[in-house]
Amino acid sequence: MKDISESDINNNIPLVTQKDKNRNVIAGNVAIGGQDVVIMAGPCTVESKQQIFEIAKAVQEAGATMLRGGIFKPLTFPYGDPLGKPDAGTTVKNDIHSRPKVLPIHEMFKTAEKRLAYFKEAGEKYRLPIVSEIVYADSLSMMAKYVDMFQIGYRHMFNMDLIEALSTTDKPLLIKRHVGESLRSLLGVAEHFEARGKNNFAFCERGVSVPHTHNVNSRAILDIQAIPALKEYAPSVPVIIDPSHSTFKRNYVAPMSKAAIAAGADGLLIEVHHTPEAAWIDPLNAIGCDDFRLLLKDIEAISKIIR
Ligand code: PEP
Ligand code: MN
Repeated sequence: MKDISESDINNNIPLVTQKDKNRNVIAGNVAIGGQDVVIMAGPCTVESKQQIFEIAKAVQEAGATMLRGGIFKPLTFPYGDPLGKPDAGTTVKNDIHSRPKVLPIHEMFKTAEKRLAYFKEAGEKYRLPIVSEIVYADSLSMMAKYVDMFQIGYRHMFNMDLIEALSTTDKPLLIKRHVGESLRSLLGVAEHFEARGKNNFAFCERGVSVPHTHNVNSRAILDIQAIPALKEYAPSVPVIIDPSHSTFKRNYVAPMSKAAIAAGADGLLIEVHHTPEAAWIDPLNAIGCDDFRLLLKDIEAISKIIR
């Protein structure tokens, strides 16, 4: 894996590294990369109407600026997919035998639009623009009716179908770096967008692969150093930190969030659930609504000092 050279800046990533570029990364009415820290919060998975409304209310009251929720989930393993669950917010057992296998894609499309509709409704009710991951390029026009920002998950960083499709939308993008990829590669993906005339995107750091992570369940460790490095190479691109998927551990989310803001991140993407242990997906990293509220008080205090 290579680091970024002078020749890269001149020949491979000349557009994304331009200084003083006005990117207008605006989701709904929220400016990303401006004076204010942006807090994207919500559940890993939009599980039911009741669940997303309850979480939207809690995160808005705590001070979140955007609502984040998963509709299409590209999972590492084929279990635990929420799309076959009854849509009633019923108690979910977290043992593997209670989990359905992933549904065929056409079934996902059927439930996805319904869930996107009430996800958007929750965002509108609490005045929170919504951000969600896109997995299938041909779901773009359907999703664009609902979401204010598209997330590209780390598994899809190099997905050329998505790069082509997303270059045609005016909506901003949140590009996650793959855990095994360098900043050079991330900047390369951004340059693919730039070369197609798309420049309203933000980066999202969600950890890098390392031999040990201090946590048996985790595969990544948060690369705080990516913040100053990205600011150095691509100063006009906002940087969002995801302390939830990088640490994969509830207790680590608050300290890493504070560290990220102190290190100059433009915002955070945090998984919040009203009953974290019962979250359909990622129950180990979701934080509860009360913990989220306390965390945002600290974030506000840190932002005041450093911004
Ligand atoms: C997510 O944001 O819920 C998610 C699964 O993201 P990642 O691509 O970082 O795993
Ligand atoms: Mn998740």
